[in-house]
Amino acid sequence: MSESNLAFFDSHAHLDFPDFEKDLEALVERAEAAGIQRMITIGTDLESSAQSLALADRFDSVFAVVGWHPCTALEAPEDIRAELRQMATHKKVVAIGETGLDYHHLPSEDPEKSAADDGRYRAAQARIFEQQLEVAAEAGLNVVVHQRDAYVDTIKQWRPFAKRGVRAVFHCFVGSVAEMEEVVGMGGLVSYTGIVTFKNAESVRETLTATPIDRFMLETDCPYLAPVPFRGKRCEPSYVREIATRVAEVKQVDLESLSNATNTTARAFFHGLS
Ligand SMILES: [Zn+2]
Repeated sequence: MSESNLAFFDSHAHLDFPDFEKDLEALVERAEAAGIQRMITIGTDLESSAQSLALADRFDSVFAVVGWHPCTALEAPEDIRAELRQMATHKKVVAIGETGLDYHHLPSEDPEKSAADDGRYRAAQARIFEQQLEVAAEAGLNVVVHQRDAYVDTIKQWRPFAKRGVRAVFHCFVGSVAEMEEVVGMGGLVSYTGIVTFKNAESVRETLTATPIDRFMLETDCPYLAPVPFRGKRCEPSYVREIATRVAEVKQVDLESLSNATNTTARAFFHGLS
């Protein structure tokens, strides 16, 4: 098989975002032509999750993850479990998320807000993270985790569910080798974005070097984080090729081995991904 025919997956894309509204059809065609055989579009709230389902219905190569992102936790209804349970019955839903904890920007950055507002924000994030872990456990699905500046709390909240067999992928992983080893040791995975191609991302490449070949996936997180040479532009799933090329160099494996390993890992993690 020639290298250009090798199949790769984009395990984390936001195809429902308005950035893609005008040329989605062409974007999916470009991705498929570049060998991006599967794209997993990730919901960020109930509306976005419903749109992700519609995209999975529309394109054979697109699968969906349904959930609510921690950064908009304060806008979430008190309980999102019933809606998620319902959506999780769709045959192309392959995981729950993206969910997790993000303390990077707290309400108290605004001088009119207080520590009490920060507490309410964190509590809302923890509440909907817990609900999504519960739905995942009930449905026999795994979770797509977003964490930023909240690693310890995220691990702590996931741990009892990890013991029940709910696996987590820590997406857009930029953590240390020790953190990667902890996630992997708990049955989880990490996934790497275009950040691995950035000049200043030496520490991410170090963690990637230490990550076992069968414990990570590739993702774009598009429309964000376009790899070099597209850095700063809108990202799209076809750019998994650039990410894969750099990852193969760092891991010192050929592209065929990387394709086989990452696709097998993704199929084992995302239940129902054909
Ligand atoms: Zn995302």
